[in-house]
Amino acid sequence: MVGASDKGAHMTEIVILGGGTAGTLIANTLVKKKLPWHITVIDRNDEHHYQPGYLFVPFGMMPASRVAKSRTKFLPDGVDLIIDAAVTIDRAAHEVVLSSGRRVRYDQLIIASGTIPDPAAVPGMADGIEWYRSVFDFYTLEGAAALAPKIKGLEKGRLVVHVSETPIKCPVAPLEFALLAQDYMRKKGRNWGVDVVYVTPLDGAFTKPVASRTLGGLLAERGIEQITDFQVEEIDNGAKELVSYDGRRVPFDLLVTVPPNRGSAVVIESGLGDEAGFVAVNKHTLQSEIDPDIWVLGDATNAPTSKAGSVVHFEAAAFVPNLIAHVAGEPLPKLFDGHANCFIESGRGEAMLLDFNYEQEPVTGVFPLAGVGPLKLLRPSRLNHLSKLAFEGVYWHALLPGRPLPFPHDMSTAGKNLESTN
Ligand SMILES: Cc1cc2nc3c(=O)[nH]c(=O)nc-3n(C[C@H](O)[C@H](O)[C@H](O)COP(=O)(O)OP(=O)(O)OC[C@H]3O[C@@H](n4cnc5c(N)ncnc54)[C@H](O)[C@@H]3O)c2cc1C
Repeated sequence: MVGASDKGAHMTEIVILGGGTAGTLIANTLVKKKLPWHITVIDRNDEHHYQPGYLFVPFGMMPASRVAKSRTKFLPDGVDLIIDAAVTIDRAAHEVVLSSGRRVRYDQLIIASGTIPDPAAVPGMADGIEWYRSVFDFYTLEGAAALAPKIKGLEKGRLVVHVSETPIKCPVAPLEFALLAQDYMRKKGRNWGVDVVYVTPLDGAFTKPVASRTLGGLLAERGIEQITDFQVEEIDNGAKELVSYDGRRVPFDLLVTVPPNRGSAVVIESGLGDEAGFVAVNKHTLQSEIDPDIWVLGDATNAPTSKAGSVVHFEAAAFVPNLIAHVAGEPLPKLFDGHANCFIESGRGEAMLLDFNYEQEPVTGVFPLAGVGPLKLLRPSRLNHLSKLAFEGVYWHALLPGRPLPFPHDMSTAGKNLESTN
């Protein structure tokens, strides 16, 4: 078929919508296969963000300038990058329609358009007078950078860390924010004047029972108040209070909120997404449930695993052989097990690690080698913290280029205390 830039009639046209974590990793991995494929990546801008850095910017642990880099540097030779926003997918014509009116034809489309915070979805959030005065998000570089001087200047009062609804990307990031904030205030000698409060729509600190118990215990140990089952209705800007549907009110001096996370507008516009704009996929093959020539990776899917960069790495191991088999007209050979790894900064120079998949919730034990570790699961350790810091280099130089990482793709139960699930 003739492709976007007409590279020849024999070429299979692969179009990747989104040049973030998933789009870049997949483009690099596919190019290494040296197949007769022409690959095009579409992204609305040329700024690739290391999103885990958003957590560190407000605490002065990472300069905002280190978070964003040009996408071009991370895409391999031979891949075309189109900088333009996709507005819709014309499935009948096998074309992605861009805001310029250009149409990009595909044989196989890989949607990797991620998720973005939507602060307009909560009344009184983006449209409130306190937005970026005493109400901030940290899920954008702009929000994280604007928050830094506010954290630095907070001498006393209530610092409320809030999750509007789930699912969100990196679901542990708000917990990490609360723990880092409490530690920051402790180091500045302000922990007697600043109360850190954690407000969540969940019935505990996290979705998975063992992790929820452990993380809830850690918050309590650090003196962080938890308010659970809080379904936010609005932010009352005049009173500076979060208001829930059941009438509860949580006062704040500084509110750090995670707005509802939504799939990209192009997904919603194309009729591919659910209410929140996430694409229905077969959770094991990552193939769209309604179109076999559309695949979805990373945060854009509705797969019930974490929305995390580590997940993209594990997904790729099943997805790439499946795509190659599909193009060849063969049965799909691999299944993705939902494997996720999440480091959780717990303050005091330590971090915890979660390892889980669709079937197995996070438990204690060691990772990645049974009996050896060296990383501890669900327990704070200095080595976990150093590994989380090292992830930045791993991200740019190993994960995005699709290089092998020293972790098994499928989750292994070796070295784990499975009885701790009970
Ligand atoms: C605060 C925070 C901390 C995090 N910490 C961690 C961590 O410690 N470990 C971890 O593994 N993960 C972490 N994550 C999550 C991780 O960053 C994401 O899961 C990962 O980036 C998802 O990759 P993706 O490719 O699906 O989406 P993204 O990387 O967000 O890429 C989506 C791309 O699609 C583009 N796009 C969207 N719509 C369009 C359109 N219509 N037209 C053209 N382009 C479009 C966007 O511009 C973007 O470049 C964190 C996230 C946040 C916010």
